[in-house]
Amino acid sequence: MRVLKFGGTSVGSAERMHALVNLVNDNTPKIVVLSAMSGTTNNLVEIGAALYAKDHEKARQLIDTLEEKYKQVIAQLYKTESALNKGKELIASHFSHLRSFTMDLFTVNEERTILAQGELLSTAMFHYHLEEIGVDSVLLPALNFMRIDENEEPDMKYIEANATAELAKYPGKKLFITQGYICRNSFGEIDNLKRGGSDYTATIIGAAIRSDEIQIWTDIDGMHNNDPRIVDKTHPIAQLSFDEAAELAYFGAKILHPTCILPAQMKKIPVRLLNTMQPEAKGTVINSTATGDSIKAVAAKDGITAIKVKSGRMLLAYGFLRSVFEIFERYKTPIDMITTSEVAVSLTVDNTKNLDAIVKELKEFCSVEVDSDLTIVCIVGNFTAEKEGYALKIFEALKQIPIRMISYGGSEHNVSILVDTKLKKDALVALNKGLF
Ligand code: ASP
Ligand code: MG
Repeated sequence: MRVLKFGGTSVGSAERMHALVNLVNDNTPKIVVLSAMSGTTNNLVEIGAALYAKDHEKARQLIDTLEEKYKQVIAQLYKTESALNKGKELIASHFSHLRSFTMDLFTVNEERTILAQGELLSTAMFHYHLEEIGVDSVLLPALNFMRIDENEEPDMKYIEANATAELAKYPGKKLFITQGYICRNSFGEIDNLKRGGSDYTATIIGAAIRSDEIQIWTDIDGMHNNDPRIVDKTHPIAQLSFDEAAELAYFGAKILHPTCILPAQMKKIPVRLLNTMQPEAKGTVINSTATGDSIKAVAAKDGITAIKVKSGRMLLAYGFLRSVFEIFERYKTPIDMITTSEVAVSLTVDNTKNLDAIVKELKEFCSVEVDSDLTIVCIVGNFTAEKEGYALKIFEALKQIPIRMISYGGSEHNVSILVDTKLKKDALVALNKGLF
């Protein structure tokens, strides 16, 4: 059994849903995970915001506009009278559910229920289309088996048991359709895996059922060696190890949700990134093989703030770093990069919500400098410590770019460099020239 995930653009119109049939209908066993139609989750977020603000008029307008869009889609999606009627009923029931929230108390629970409607709609719409053209498929409700625990982590034991039980209800069936992103929480309420979470759904299901392969279908031909929106002449990377892919996903390669690597990595299930517009392209495979010593890709993450902490007391002292880190921990602020000298430590964060409070506490025992609008440029590959020459290649390429921080040695797969965001493009272009 394989798991195939298709994102919002792959189900973004009647035309795309028609095209999707060819990619899933080949008589091999598979679970197809779908996102909401592109734009829908954003619209649902807006509806939720209007309801929080008690602007019921605005919420109703947004709901009407969205419903109109879905009515147009089903008019093009279905050819038969009976499928069209089913589609109409489906839309009527989901949108009257949405409207019911304009009359009642609105809390975070109602909001999550609203956010779940996009995936519930797209999967049912696609399922009805398969039905009308005579392709046998089963609509599996993700809310029957996807669950997160008190820490908002996937409850893998529960998911394994329940996904397996759910599939066992349909012996002999080969094509299953289910919702990405949505799940239940430890109270059994409707919840979700955070924005972009459908990739995560796919790898969680893949791991839970010990799938042969997990495929993430998007509209680019795999993970590229550099950001194609910024740099010309990038190319897809044929193979990445799980560690390399995790570094790239975290540091800005938009194609994959950062947390989604882990479930696949734990069960060693290969993840293939493929392109719906170009299904024959090889794409990128992510697996446990660490191939060769090489620099594979570059990615960049904006919105970084650097904090430089300096104290004479740090000299030959112990416990200093702990007192610094404790403050970040108390404010639940993750630290990305760290570099230290004998008397100072520089670190970076991307969440600045509690920065003022953190700086105030740090200033009680050291001097603090804060720098914002920075970018982490991360170079990913397999850098074994015994091999020489990587650093030279990287810094030779970057010789014209002022560098604010350097971090190497944290993992064998990443060299991170902090630059002013204004210089990001120059840095990425220079690295593309010098490294690939
Ligand atoms: N529909 C959700 C979102 O837009 C989940 C996803 O697309 O992965 O965030
Ligand atoms: Mg997505």
